[in-house]
Amino acid sequence: MSDCIFCKIVAGDIPAKKIYEDEQVLAFHDINPVSPVHFLVIPKLHIPSMAELQPEHEAVMGKVMTAASRIARELRCTDGFRTIVNTGRVGRQEVYHLHVHVVGGPDVLPAMLKR
Ligand code: AMP
Ligand code: ZN
Repeated sequence: MSDCIFCKIVAGDIPAKKIYEDEQVLAFHDINPVSPVHFLVIPKLHIPSMAELQPEHEAVMGKVMTAASRIARELRCTDGFRTIVNTGRVGRQEVYHLHVHVVGGPDVLPAMLKR
């Protein structure tokens, strides 16, 4: 998807603070963090939102969630964290390339309530 900002990050056309990358998954720090730890995990494949998930996406979404868990551990979110997937208009999704937010560190709840 040439006009998708996260596809452009996957392609290396715009910069991001990458945390982890493999053939199918990319994780990077959110550009506008709401907490000391706030990163996004995406499938490299362009899936617009969670509403478009199909059975053939099960494997890659398993990898997305497993990467989110492992990176949260590596970034010392040992006391827990929030995972958020905004979907569509009602979900106030802004970027239409499926992504999982991982939000952790102190004061997570007040930060999220401000949004
Ligand atoms: P949403 O679609 O509502 O889940 O929000 C999209 C998220 O992507 C927001 O938290 C933005 O701060 C984040 N974001 C947008 N552009 C970039 C970018 N170029 N690099 C990193 N994060 C971004
Ligand atoms: Zn995309």
